[in-house]
Amino acid sequence: MQAEIRSETKKPETKRKFDVIIIGAGPAGYTAAIYTSRAKRETLIISGTLPGGQLMLTTEVENFPGFAEGILGPELMTTMRKQAERMGTSIIDDEVVNVDFRRKPFKVLTYSEEYEADAVIIATGASPRKLGVVGEQEFSARGVSYCATCDGPFFKNQDIVVAGGGDSAMEEAIFLTKFANKVHLIHRRDKLRASKVMQERAFDNKKIQFHWNTMIEEIKGSQKVSQITIKDTKTSKVESLEVGALFVAIGHEPNTKLFKNQIELDDQGYIVLKDHTRTSIEGVFSAGDVHDHRYRQAVTAAGFGCMAAIDVDKYLSEQKR
Ligand code: NAP
Repeated sequence: MQAEIRSETKKPETKRKFDVIIIGAGPAGYTAAIYTSRAKRETLIISGTLPGGQLMLTTEVENFPGFAEGILGPELMTTMRKQAERMGTSIIDDEVVNVDFRRKPFKVLTYSEEYEADAVIIATGASPRKLGVVGEQEFSARGVSYCATCDGPFFKNQDIVVAGGGDSAMEEAIFLTKFANKVHLIHRRDKLRASKVMQERAFDNKKIQFHWNTMIEEIKGSQKVSQITIKDTKTSKVESLEVGALFVAIGHEPNTKLFKNQIELDDQGYIVLKDHTRTSIEGVFSAGDVHDHRYRQAVTAAGFGCMAAIDVDKYLSEQKR
């Protein structure tokens, strides 16, 4: 259900050693590549499982500067990719399975190859958090979704559940009322985390019913989701909702599992920055949502990509001297 960008991209047929390897191909990764390639640093992007990143899962992007009428997320990412390629970036659509940052040159291993680089930029972003309840994995893409803009239109005139109490949950719930008959908003507390303005918009929407102090217990169905069991945490009352879909909007987890024992992460798993975009390993830099849980915007991720690339360029020049 999600848009894809695979390329006619120049593949590094025989080349295995680069000045810079960028892991991840969202706004941070592509912007970093545009800058390092333009600075004549041989650059490889290893794009991972979702080339283009989270913006491939969105529709209209209205707040990325330069597009007066807005632009579709996948179109924005395809354009960034082309721009990086035009600057000379090599891109492979493969997944990194291991890294070795303990000695230089750094090693980056994919399913099919091993690459080396004098500097690495980690731009792996963050992924939607899972509820971890019975049925979530089983019904993933069969009624359980993490992206309303991608999957909402499939559930016209049905009842839908949204889980979460932050801005994402409000945004998704409001968006889903365009299609759904009714949206049940399930939140584990009696207060929302969402901003005032988003709360007001959600409260004003007659199609949204709030269930406070409530947890999802189980997702049931046969071919696809048909019923969600919820439990009131105060009264322990259990209720079943007959619905066609569950949209989970409970935040994100940084994609840092690969780097766990090699670079410093904070207690939530985000990369800890040491000096601008430097990580705890000299020569390894970070850009975007993988370290930034405050702003998390396409434009700030792109900004961090630019910063990391400038820091890498300076670092490589210093190494040469
Ligand atoms: P968030 O602000 O971290 O909210 C996550 C929500 O999910 C919280 O209400 C949390 O409950 C709940 N939650 C977390 N883990 C849960 C679990 N295991 N089971 C049940 N509920 C769980 O995440 P977000 O909404 O994705 O927003 C992230 C950032 O992006 C925020 O800074 C937000 O302002 C921003 N954002 C802005 C907009 C906008 O302005 N239009 C849109 C989307 C996102 P508790 O409240 O009890 O912790």
